[in-house]
Amino acid sequence: RPFVELTDVSHTYSTGGTLAVDGLSLKVSEGEFAAVVGPSGCGKSTLMKLATGLQFPQKGAVIVDGKEVSEPVKMAGMAFQAPTLLPWRTTLENLMLPLEIVQPHRSRLRKHRAEYVAKAEALLESVGLGGAGSKFPWQLSGGMQQRSSLCRALIHEPKLLMLDEPFGALDAFTREELWCVIRDLHARMAGKLTVILVTHDLREATFLADRIFCMSQRPGRIITERVVDFPRPRD
Ligand code: ADP
Ligand code: ADP
Repeated sequence: RPFVELTDVSHTYSTGGTLAVDGLSLKVSEGEFAAVVGPSGCGKSTLMKLATGLQFPQKGAVIVDGKEVSEPVKMAGMAFQAPTLLPWRTTLENLMLPLEIVQPHRSRLRKHRAEYVAKAEALLESVGLGGAGSKFPWQLSGGMQQRSSLCRALIHEPKLLMLDEPFGALDAFTREELWCVIRDLHARMAGKLTVILVTHDLREATFLADRIFCMSQRPGRIITERVVDFPRPRD
């Protein structure tokens, strides 16, 4: 069944009057790993914001998990190009952030903190960051910070993971290592986690995604859609 569905969506920013996406439609199934590729400025981040209820389109419909999006989608986890960790919090405390905000975790957190800490530590361990929980962001490399941001995006067990160029700032070696981390994480969720990755790197998209949407120049529309069914380099 479709998990994220945009139908003929158009959005103009009031600031500057930029028509960012125009008549955009796309369907991503539950559990799928989708990538959206397109030139810089074509409206990829706008598409992300529309799909997570951070912006609302003037035209068209955005449906996530069977419901029309009318407020920020709390079951979404997000990671961006630059890791957005708070510098005065340790890695572990940064991972706790979504739990402090999103219900029902928020009300459970006070009573079951030890349980959540164990979960955060297990998540860090799974991306090769065991022991980094007590470190501050500035004590970690860029790649380690990016991994921490990923863990934070997953800590509240989101059904939808939105990745907006999360590897862009990394060196080639670290980037490919993180690709494998993400594929493993997605595979482990066994159809329960839908991922939408925005990137301008076609190689990254073909390595990671089951389905690739290509956008036109701004105002963005989906111009082609491909199912990736060939074996990946690491399979
Ligand atoms: P909305 O369409 O929801 O009203 P706005 O147009 O008010 O959104 O823009 C939201 C924020 O983004 C504003 O604070 C604005 O200053 C900022 N912004 C404006 N232009 C750009 C741009 N080209 N890229 C990124 N952010 C921008
Ligand atoms: P991409 O992610 O593909 O680079 P964006 O969705 O960020 O593209 O931007 C699409 C267009 O909308 C650009 O022309 C950009 O300047 C404009 N834009 C993006 N965010 C805002 C904003 N908050 N306010 C005004 N204009 C924006």
